[in-house]
Amino acid sequence: MSIPVIERVAARESTLGEGLRIRRALPTRERRMVGAWCFLDHIGPITFGPDEGMHVGAHPHTCLQTFTWMIEGEIRHRDSLGSDQLIRPGQVNLMTAGHGISHTEDSPTGGQRVHAAQLWIALPPAQADRAPAFEHHAALPTWQHGGCTCTLLAGRWRGPGGEHTAPTKVHTPLVGLDVCSAAGGDTVLPLRPDFEHGLLPLEGSVGIAGREATDGAEVATSGIAHFAPGEFAYLAPGPEQLGLRLSPGARVLLLGGEPWRDPIVMWWNFVGPSKAHVIQAQADWEAEGEAAGAAASPRFGAVPGGEGRRLHAPPLPWKA
Ligand code: MN
Repeated sequence: MSIPVIERVAARESTLGEGLRIRRALPTRERRMVGAWCFLDHIGPITFGPDEGMHVGAHPHTCLQTFTWMIEGEIRHRDSLGSDQLIRPGQVNLMTAGHGISHTEDSPTGGQRVHAAQLWIALPPAQADRAPAFEHHAALPTWQHGGCTCTLLAGRWRGPGGEHTAPTKVHTPLVGLDVCSAAGGDTVLPLRPDFEHGLLPLEGSVGIAGREATDGAEVATSGIAHFAPGEFAYLAPGPEQLGLRLSPGARVLLLGGEPWRDPIVMWWNFVGPSKAHVIQAQADWEAEGEAAGAAASPRFGAVPGGEGRRLHAPPLPWKA
């Protein structure tokens, strides 16, 4: 039985839209991806003032899926396909950008509490230019195991609690599981040994049984490494199970997938199989903004309600 070697990665603070501070666990200097999971934002928990809320103006995406998992509060999603969807706790919005889409995200009213994870999933090169799509999932497979409530967000699950398949459509082998413990306690989860995994604590603290690596060298003794929100634990492929010690009220996301082997470029809101893809996407988004809706066949389109609050792409970090 392979004992997990745990890499500790510190999330960094970033800003979403106009002033909402979030914690970003991927990508970081140390690690870019876990399977196809390429961007992990922990939003809140935050309670907005009476006239305040989350407001992210119209912005584009390519070659990725945005995966929103709502824990508390509500967010209204609108996109250039015409989707207009309120997401509530326990629900998922999954937007597949493919060749191009644009969207807005807003608190429906002021004064709400918001707590969510927004994750990006990279699309493989064969899907890079596929048509955009949007899915809303009001309910996901859920079961009790070892004193925890487990909810399958993506992929398949075989183990204690039975066999489950998440309804979310993804394009590479991966798994996403929300594990929540009201009373706290120890639990053991099966892992696919061909997957690499990441644990993202969202509430409380989680202890992970294994050996913690420091600067690439393993600490000699096995034990329990404790993680809290603002940190991320990376586990390389190999282990077939994972022992967790959850504090009362703890919630953690287990994310995994086959290690990514294709070329990938991530910049601003764009992902692509090459720099040329990202350079073209930036040029197309800015050209549509200048055309002010007059583009004959827009790549990204317009979002109803997004008028007057379109986000500009920053200058490219490379020469076109
Ligand atoms: Mn977005």
